[in-house]
Amino acid sequence: MTDPHSLKPRTIAAQALGAIEPETRGVALPVHVSTTFIRDPDNQYRTGYIYGRPDNATVRHTEAVIAALEGAHEAMLFASGMAAATSVVLALPPGSHVLGPQVCYWGFRDWLINEAPLFGYRVDLVDMGSVDAVRAAVKPDTKLIWIETPSNPLWGITDIAAVAEIAHKAGARLAIDSTAATPVFTRPLSLGADIVMHSATKYLNGHSDVIAGALAAARDDALWTRIKQVRGHHGAILGPFEAWLLLRGLRTLEVRVKAQAESAALLATRFANHAFISSVLYPGLPSHPGHAVAARQMSGFGGMLSIRVKGGERAAIDAAARVNLWKRATSLGGVESLIEHRASIEGPVPLTCYDCRLVWKTSTISTTISIARCAPRIELLAAEDAGICPVNYRTLAARDMSESNTRTSRLETRISPEALALVKRAAEIEGRSISDFVVAAAQDAARRTIADVEIIRLSRSAQKKFAALLLDPPQPSAGLKKAFKHHRRLVRDVR
Ligand code: PLP
Repeated sequence: MTDPHSLKPRTIAAQALGAIEPETRGVALPVHVSTTFIRDPDNQYRTGYIYGRPDNATVRHTEAVIAALEGAHEAMLFASGMAAATSVVLALPPGSHVLGPQVCYWGFRDWLINEAPLFGYRVDLVDMGSVDAVRAAVKPDTKLIWIETPSNPLWGITDIAAVAEIAHKAGARLAIDSTAATPVFTRPLSLGADIVMHSATKYLNGHSDVIAGALAAARDDALWTRIKQVRGHHGAILGPFEAWLLLRGLRTLEVRVKAQAESAALLATRFANHAFISSVLYPGLPSHPGHAVAARQMSGFGGMLSIRVKGGERAAIDAAARVNLWKRATSLGGVESLIEHRASIEGPVPLTCYDCRLVWKTSTISTTISIARCAPRIELLAAEDAGICPVNYRTLAARDMSESNTRTSRLETRISPEALALVKRAAEIEGRSISDFVVAAAQDAARRTIADVEIIRLSRSAQKKFAALLLDPPQPSAGLKKAFKHHRRLVRDVR
């Protein structure tokens, strides 16, 4: 039989390491819920299971899949991302010095600043985007460097290999929160990191229905053993049902995150020169300060991006309030698209950290748009959704064309310059020629009976002529004008 570990990560995840349920040969594994296990007559526990707090079979299987995805010696699951992250610090000798990032998931930074010192740890925060700053901040008793890349919510990038080297030279370990990168886009252990952490609540599970955390270790050593003890003593293990849901979510990990990254890249590019937006924070953009490092250590740039809108906090909150498709909610990595004004959830943030205004979080666009490659439509909807363009281009174009059409039949008018500008922009967004767009918009209008446009019934070539007429109507000749005046007089007289 094929060694599951020799398979591609996509297959490892999709097949959940190829396991089957032995009793029925079911392809989906059961949820093992037992909290306690029977001893052998000679008082041994040969199955390896004793009690549910340190260990569980469903949890173990999900851990094995995550370990394989990260190329790790072993993985451990926790009741949340925070439980996983804090367990790493709590496993260090008391009094250890820890170097953390200025910008990272705010909950963990808050814990590092306010709670870790209560346990005797000394914490310094540093700009992890600067290798020199990290080198300068390391102390002789630094035991752990914690990084997060890309870092929530500004999506800054840390050079994993360079910081691993600094950590190891100083006798410290490097742990990395790789939640936003996922094992699909970054394999931190292969770049020298010692421990990878995930808020499995996010992409690993991917359906916004499980809170979970994961750690994966490069090797079995004293720190890893200590983390296992911390998990067991603190009762921080993930529940079996959550582990089962996580296993199910993992099966589609690669398909999901690639589709999400594709949409994020598209939005980032489209928003880059938008009049309403002062900056787009996405590591896939060449203008991003961490782009070169990201391109070296990531095979894709992820599904998260932030935008800063012009007009400050009020404008950002207003823009988030105008969205329809995007849901205003915190968290990330689920199949739905979310948006939030980040500062509203983080509260006052130390000025040394950042002044993020609006975080635009993209993920797979819902089933109406699906994960199909209909990129320009996604952007159009996104732009409308964010309130960035005032109304639906198509509706507006159709309305104007409908008026134009009525007036054109009176041989008086042409499409207004404003409508024409919108039509041109919309056609560009949809990747169509202007005349194709006009035809599509008129068809929309006819379907919605916004206008008495009979275009649906016309032949393709007649539709094209119609579009050309609207875009560039001929000047009515003197004879036609005369005929029209006569016609108007007749109508008035009849009335
Ligand atoms: N790390 C990152 C990057 C996160 O975004 C979060 C949560 O938003 C966490 C860690 C904490 O994870 P959890 O909510 O699963 O405890």
